[in-house]
Amino acid sequence: MFDFLKKKISSWVSKPSPTSSKKDKKKSKENQKTKGKSKKSTKKEKVTIKNEIKEEISLTQDEIDAENKKLTQSEKESKEDVENILEEAEKSPETDKIEDKQEQKGNFFTKLFKKITTSKLTQEDFDEIFEEFEITLLENNVALEAVDKIKENLGKDLIEQQIKKTEAEARILQSLKDAILSVLIEPPNLIKQIKEHKGVYTIIFFGINGTGKTTSIAKLAHLLKENDISCVLAAGDTFRAASIEQLQTHAQRLSVPFIASNYGSDPASVAFEAKKYAEQHKIKVVLIDTAGRMYTKSNLIKEMEKIIRISKPDLKMFVGESITGNDALEQCKTFNEAIGIDGIILSKADIDEKAGTILSVSHITNKPIYFLGVGQNYKDLLVFSKKEVLKNLGLN
Ligand code: GDP
Repeated sequence: MFDFLKKKISSWVSKPSPTSSKKDKKKSKENQKTKGKSKKSTKKEKVTIKNEIKEEISLTQDEIDAENKKLTQSEKESKEDVENILEEAEKSPETDKIEDKQEQKGNFFTKLFKKITTSKLTQEDFDEIFEEFEITLLENNVALEAVDKIKENLGKDLIEQQIKKTEAEARILQSLKDAILSVLIEPPNLIKQIKEHKGVYTIIFFGINGTGKTTSIAKLAHLLKENDISCVLAAGDTFRAASIEQLQTHAQRLSVPFIASNYGSDPASVAFEAKKYAEQHKIKVVLIDTAGRMYTKSNLIKEMEKIIRISKPDLKMFVGESITGNDALEQCKTFNEAIGIDGIILSKADIDEKAGTILSVSHITNKPIYFLGVGQNYKDLLVFSKKEVLKNLGLN
């Protein structure tokens, strides 16, 4: 989860600042000397940079010191950039794959740092520097609307601001964190909400086939059990072959009651029966599965509206696959426009290395992600938290 984006952001923010110690720099040069000789880069740009470094390391330490004295401050900083870039490239071969040419000329973070500490950052400077970050976000499935919001908030914090050199690094980092947080929504604590709710709490699940809806219902049933909350599963998908048996298998494994009817029967009546059963047996939560079709046709929307009218859900949960990026966003938007969702579960986040959907879906729909599905077992359901997202991005 977040692997690509994390690598990129980590490579930016973990680099030593231009004020890092000489000892570190010397150590880094020594590393280049041994590693640089053995490793062959296939990238043309890297070869150029390595040649510069090779030339430099063939000098004696005295000669290096003499050379250094001749350099102006800005030349020194550019040289340090090159060293830093090489250090990163050598340290993590996988990072090579996602690093672009632009980064080798000085990355987003370094450029921002330099601009902010030498003069006030203008809108023009910022637009130019942000372009690199923008591309990274878009490449990682972050929707354009979310990218724009991140840019707007980061810009608000940094453009035309008087920022002391000593505070610049922390300030950029904090602004970056705040900008990312601005596109996320912290979900309510569902377990607490259910416990505080008077009477039966009903959750209805929507999402297209194969996205992990049934598995997510089972995972949530497991989580409820772990929190001593009783539940009943309702097989409201009376359309897809084997869907009823699939949910029934989960109910049996989890030892929770199960309400179903025949294929082709009215899903609203299944939901109604499940709710009645819950009330009669003092069961706290009803989890209702629905058919996995896109609700763009008016007769299907009517069918959904009927289930909602009859079951009066406390929570309408959309389940989408994190991994499908824009498709998941479009599905979520469609369901939201058709029936109005309250929350989101993003499944398969464990196999989503880009994770842009996680960063975009709440901003696009203004609904919180409640959980991330992170595997095929019952326990693989993570409560979503903004803090965890930052942690996953290496920004905590
Ligand atoms: P439904 O048609 O929407 O009900 O989808 P299912 O619940 O049947 O899930 C479809 C497939 O996705 C199954 O093989 C599940 O095991 C798998 N799946 C569901 N959630 C996750 C998840 O969070 N991570 C992974 N890796 N696989 C998942």
